[in-house]
Amino acid sequence: MLLTATALAACTTPTRQPDTSSSPTPGTRGAAGVGDPYYPDDGNGGYDVTGYDVAIKYDPATQRLDGDTTVTATAAEALSQFNLDLTGMDVSSVEVDGTPAKFARTGAHELVITPAATITHGGTFRTRVTYAGTPQSTKDPVLGVNGWQKATSGGAYVAGEPHSASDWFPVNDHPSDKATFRLTAAVPDGWSVISNGREEPPHSEAGWTTFTWVESTRIAPYLTTVGIDHWTFERSTYNGIPLVSAYAPGAEDKKTIEARLPEVLDFLSAEFGPYPQDAAGGIFINEDIGFSLETQTRPIYAKWTTLDVIVHEQAHQWFGDTVSLNRWSDVCLNECFASYAEVLWAEAKNHTNIDDVYRKAVTKADDKFWNRKLVDMGPGNEFTAVYDKGQLALHALRHELGDDKFHTLLTTWIATHHDTTATWSDFETLVNTTAGHPITPFLNAWFHQASKPADQFLYPGTLHK
Ligand SMILES: [Zn+2]
Repeated sequence: MLLTATALAACTTPTRQPDTSSSPTPGTRGAAGVGDPYYPDDGNGGYDVTGYDVAIKYDPATQRLDGDTTVTATAAEALSQFNLDLTGMDVSSVEVDGTPAKFARTGAHELVITPAATITHGGTFRTRVTYAGTPQSTKDPVLGVNGWQKATSGGAYVAGEPHSASDWFPVNDHPSDKATFRLTAAVPDGWSVISNGREEPPHSEAGWTTFTWVESTRIAPYLTTVGIDHWTFERSTYNGIPLVSAYAPGAEDKKTIEARLPEVLDFLSAEFGPYPQDAAGGIFINEDIGFSLETQTRPIYAKWTTLDVIVHEQAHQWFGDTVSLNRWSDVCLNECFASYAEVLWAEAKNHTNIDDVYRKAVTKADDKFWNRKLVDMGPGNEFTAVYDKGQLALHALRHELGDDKFHTLLTTWIATHHDTTATWSDFETLVNTTAGHPITPFLNAWFHQASKPADQFLYPGTLHK
């Protein structure tokens, strides 16, 4: 994610909704939240999703969405009841393994499902939910409008963090549960659909065209997207994988910067290791929203997007998308690195003297700049310091380790944790291993402390004042 300069910092603390439902059969009730202290109701306990098969029919004229989603999951315990996350929408039926199940709606986005029979521990089960309604966006104090949004063309798109998937399909809406994602979307003839992964041929019937997109690399729910518009598509390949970019009416001028995507991916691959996705591209909307987002394989770009933003969102394909968060308190694992990728790009391509830029930034920074934590910054504060202070912290870390070890650190991090999730603590362990000795005071000063690091940490190694 990359914010506009005008995004304002604020803080909200969601509250947990009491679970008042009762358990009718032996077995455990899966928790209503996956356990993220920042967003206690996000995600759910008791199972691990392996795949989403999302089918929607959407009419831009009425903004009505009809959904039929099947969630395949493995039970982590014997389950008499479990939750999915779904915001709004009228649910008409729920089936578990083909048998009708009881369901109820509680809290902001809980769909509480009671299957006819207890699901056995370790068993794979399929939950099919049919639903309909007008998907709603949410308003985030920092990011602005978030989630399912109506496009100025009359179409629609989804972009949102820390949660957005539950606006349009039932989901275990937390990045710690990655799963494959298949979307089948029917829209009136003349409209088209872009999403994550690889496309299958569309087909038309009775005035509706159905588009299919398949993301076979496991994806965190907030990195899924759908865009319904009068897209201009550009198709090519990158190292043998499909490269598909889509431009909304009015965003066609972005083709010039997106043409450099192969160069960007080559550059990032040299820095971080091989491109970790099996499709590539971008989604260029003609909307002045508060952020661009690293939706997997195909970031979604606001109209103010520049080449630097493409570098940032594509860097997330490594940092955030293939290595995903366990907890939102660790979002520096995504944003500090994607932001530092812009620095690496400027250094390599524009021959910017990064040390000079760093010294100027440190001199200019005031208490307000330093008094923000990069790790465990508190809910609502995730998307603030990780961009600017995050860049400085990683540049200092690079000098603390030296270029060779810093490069080893980044490539080892991705190679070790790709296609799964990791924590900030895991990262610090790897930093210390790579350094050859613990550099805990340095890490504390930069990442855990809400004040200006001492000079020894501000100017490590060859980085003189
Ligand atoms: Zn970002």
